[in-house]
Amino acid sequence: LIDIHTHIYPRTYIELLKQNGCIPRITGEKPHEKFLIFPPSIIDPLNKNRDKGVPIGPEFWSLEHKLEFMDKYKIQVSLMSLGNPWLSFLNPSESRKWARILNDEIEQLCEKRKDRLLGLGCLPTNCLDATLEEIERICKTNLHGAIMECRMLCGKKLDNKDLEPFWDKLNKTHFGIGMEELTGYSSALPLSLGFAFETTLAATRIVCSGVFERYPNLKIILAHSGGALPFLSGRIDAAWKIAHPKLINSPPSSYMKYFFYDSICYHSPALIATVRFASASKLMFGTDHPFGISQPDKNIEAIIESNLTKKEQNLIFTDNAKKLFEI
Ligand SMILES: [Zn+2]
Repeated sequence: LIDIHTHIYPRTYIELLKQNGCIPRITGEKPHEKFLIFPPSIIDPLNKNRDKGVPIGPEFWSLEHKLEFMDKYKIQVSLMSLGNPWLSFLNPSESRKWARILNDEIEQLCEKRKDRLLGLGCLPTNCLDATLEEIERICKTNLHGAIMECRMLCGKKLDNKDLEPFWDKLNKTHFGIGMEELTGYSSALPLSLGFAFETTLAATRIVCSGVFERYPNLKIILAHSGGALPFLSGRIDAAWKIAHPKLINSPPSSYMKYFFYDSICYHSPALIATVRFASASKLMFGTDHPFGISQPDKNIEAIIESNLTKKEQNLIFTDNAKKLFEI
């Protein structure tokens, strides 16, 4: 079993979040630290728990805990990345500096157990030059790609023409990129619906602006099984058919198969839909540990109960990740 979606919060990063005067931030001292990721109005519209945050413990930063978790679910290899909010809250020059520091640290953490831990870097996504520079730098390290938020890059939506150098750089470097959500923009139910629709929207922007037509070799992994893409792709195609002008030559769904998807959808009907839509060669097992929403049992169960062939299951559990990340 290979887990391609699991997070680590090095203590350096936690200290950085503690210095931040406003949300996102971490408050309190060990062992009573609390993580405030979203403004209370989003996570808790009634403000009942204002400023309370989510308690965090060593499962966020300790390699021992990560390895224990992996043993529990028989995960041989984990591809660890920094989690939400990444570097989005820093100014451009600070984020350039911290991307280097944290990427070096994640690389060093993985080095300690390189038989079982691999890393994805983070990107200073509020500065395009720094992002391009850091992609090049990561390519020279033992990191296997990077993670980024999918809603915006440098304050621009992903179909913005100004981002062409970013796609061009990714295409040239054959750099693998994982896309996750930052805000869960919905004012309610951000984790269940907001995150998933943020991914759906970002992926549709990438496809409908022709990014894959110009750069067919991009390796982009969509978190949470692509949100609602497998379900809505027919509707997206129908809308494209009547769109003028059409920015792409084939229906959007044909390019949506270019993405890779994690298998974090928690039940087999959604997993079956994703496999039928994108093929088993595009799905990879993930857990989203250490977040509260993580339920590895459910994700494993969904794959096993989906009536897939043994070969398809193996692709999702290990073989696709081995191939993509050259493990
Ligand atoms: Zn995640």
